[in-house]
Amino acid sequence: MIHPLPLAQALIRCASVTPEDAGAQILLAGALESAGFSVTHLPFGNIHNFYAERGGEGPHLGFAGHTDVVPPGQNWRKNPFGGDVENGILYGRGACDMKGAIAAFAAAAASPTRHGKISLLITGDEEGEARNGTTKLLDWMAENNKIPDFCVVGEPTSRATLGDVIKIGRRGSLSATITATGRQGHVAYPHLADNPLHRLIPALAALTAAKLDDGNEFFEPSSLQLTSVDTGNPARNVIPAQATALLNIRFNNHHTEASLSDWLTEILAAHAPHADLKISCSGEAFLTKPGAAVNLLMDTIARETGLTAEQNTGGGTSDARFIARHCPVAEFGLVGATMHQEGECVPLADLQNLTNIYQKFIESFLA
Ligand SMILES: [Zn+2]
Repeated sequence: MIHPLPLAQALIRCASVTPEDAGAQILLAGALESAGFSVTHLPFGNIHNFYAERGGEGPHLGFAGHTDVVPPGQNWRKNPFGGDVENGILYGRGACDMKGAIAAFAAAAASPTRHGKISLLITGDEEGEARNGTTKLLDWMAENNKIPDFCVVGEPTSRATLGDVIKIGRRGSLSATITATGRQGHVAYPHLADNPLHRLIPALAALTAAKLDDGNEFFEPSSLQLTSVDTGNPARNVIPAQATALLNIRFNNHHTEASLSDWLTEILAAHAPHADLKISCSGEAFLTKPGAAVNLLMDTIARETGLTAEQNTGGGTSDARFIARHCPVAEFGLVGATMHQEGECVPLADLQNLTNIYQKFIESFLA
């Protein structure tokens, strides 16, 4: 048996500010081993990760979570690594994102089941670079035939009340650096210079004027945001030699990294020929179309909370973007109102109710 509260407290007391582990994974792996799981530690670089499984033939359900947390900041009234409970609320960095959810799914997964397999994919590299964590764990799982039929990520998806929102997809994120080069000169003698801003700005105007799409049933419209335009030039009488713009596009499943980079290239060719374009995409958009598993999760949440969860695809990126390449995935966890904030906390009732929902979902999925 695993009890969610003491496990969540013990995890919070490990100051696992990314990329540190601070004993969090040994503690969690130990609890799982005592409950009958077999654990394979899979460190990559300086990052701790592990895969744990229990059971055998039949359907295979996975849970994914990260033990690393963001730095606490300066203004906590409580010890961010104390795991204190006051008035029925558990405080600490990671309480909702996502040590609380990890404790809940570990407790649920440790309850007896008749058949099938439950696995846990635990990483210490979600809040950081995300390079030595989930992607490499999934490669190992694929090589060893351990990809589950469906995976639940315990990110804090609930908005105001436990069970009001699940995520069935996420937007992609693409960043671009555009550099236009000209020739420096005196503003009074523009014919002797070549002002790169005069090409870069029309290109940016064309990019921001364009409508990428109207969104769809599952996604908001894609959005391009300029984040910087810079020449490094402090003088009012000098035409700069170079101008650089930074932008980010949060895009839905109408687009891919490839289609967006073609579009950017086309606009630049029309307005700022010869400008240099550098692109980095931290994740493609993905969508798990509602089907049997998502419906079962929705039904379980409805039975336990009385709520019909909204199927959302907004917010930032999460490790679900990597899992989606291997199997259908949904995200469901605690209320995220205090995540990454000073005073991060979770009501004990939510911790217990989340454990119950995960447990009922496991029972139905593996039935
Ligand atoms: Zn998280």
